[in-house]
Amino acid sequence: MSHEKDATVQDSCASPGLIPVDEAVSRILDAATSVQQSEQVRVADSLGRVIAEDVASTIDVPGYDNSAMDGYAVRSGECAAAGTSLAVSQRIPAGQSGVPLEAGTAARIFTGAPVPEGADAVVMQELCERQGESVVINKAVQAGENIRRAGEDIARGSVILAAGKRVRPQEQGLMASIGLASVRVSRKLRVATFFTGDELVEPGAELGPGQIYNSNRYTLQGLLQSLDCSIVDFGIVPDDLDATLDVLKRASADADLVLTSGGVSVGEEDYVRIALEQLGELNMWRINMKPGKPVAFGQVDEALFMGLPGNPVSVFVTFTIFARPLILKMQGAGNYLAEPLSIRSGFDWRGVKRQEYLRVRVRHDEAGVYAELFPHQGSGVLSSASWADGLAVVEPGAGTQAGDILPYIPFQGL
Ligand code: AMP
Ligand code: MG
Repeated sequence: MSHEKDATVQDSCASPGLIPVDEAVSRILDAATSVQQSEQVRVADSLGRVIAEDVASTIDVPGYDNSAMDGYAVRSGECAAAGTSLAVSQRIPAGQSGVPLEAGTAARIFTGAPVPEGADAVVMQELCERQGESVVINKAVQAGENIRRAGEDIARGSVILAAGKRVRPQEQGLMASIGLASVRVSRKLRVATFFTGDELVEPGAELGPGQIYNSNRYTLQGLLQSLDCSIVDFGIVPDDLDATLDVLKRASADADLVLTSGGVSVGEEDYVRIALEQLGELNMWRINMKPGKPVAFGQVDEALFMGLPGNPVSVFVTFTIFARPLILKMQGAGNYLAEPLSIRSGFDWRGVKRQEYLRVRVRHDEAGVYAELFPHQGSGVLSSASWADGLAVVEPGAGTQAGDILPYIPFQGL
């Protein structure tokens, strides 16, 4: 399958002055520091937050040797050959502790119950035959089998979560398993947003001539929510210098990061650049990528500023490549730069001037997984991002053909 580019996206000769994506990422990350403040939150409320201090366990998990099976606890030395018959001397369900195992006997035991003193193996019930007050063990028993050892998951004193770890459901469970009810996390990042464009209208209102819906607001808010930011939205801002100056002042007053869309090209109606130059510092980059060539990065007083392009797919892609690692670093996350995976390309794609981030879906065939391309890759075609589950990256140059291995960036945390 080969795709022709449409005329509007064909004009992107590798003009001088485009900076490589990696360089833009490192310049952005160099400017970012992590928030220093932290807060104590309930483990139940910690999803998506970044651990601020190492979490060490004060207990062993499991806390005691326990049975991994429903079955019979025995002394393995007494059952070295299959067919041993033992009297059943006690019954130990989970939640109870038995008594030391008498020699020559077995204990009926259930999953999770403490293994009684003296026993050193549990035989699963499927391999045992109950005969009244006795049980026949139909196998040769090895010492240690089917016993979960105290501390085998977590040893007392060990660090279970290091500072910088972002909490997922499994981390919440892990903290609960050591009895933790609350945890210290970095404070939430305050992100202010606004959306420039005279043409923008909020969903719910009627569209007039030449107007479009402010879809970027919803894309960005969702992306920010998935990173657990606290969002202050300043809404739609007209293409007007005074209005842009005013909102930029207000947005930066109390934010760690101001994130916007639109108005960062070099058109006459692009005021974000000018406003940022007047109020703070601007690095305006034309980045060697597609979609998303223009990205503005800078600072107004204490707040960092990132101005994403207006095109809806560019917003999604530039957020993924630039804003996401920036936000993770500011939140104190250790692992803020996710390494791309690799995937076999299932398509041809030629004439690549800028580094391209193609919307693809992971598919399977007899040879394994491969990336299928969404046929319309225009930067305004938001359905491509909805259809896709990640981005395949094609370096500037000759392009790529089916069978090549490409870097693949899965859409994360969504
Ligand atoms: P700009 O970067 O302001 O020149 O905008 C580039 C393109 O993105 C134009 O077609 C805009 O209409 C469109 N656009 C800008 N902002 C938004 C938005 N918030 N939601 C959807 N489309 C937008
Ligand atoms: Mg605009």
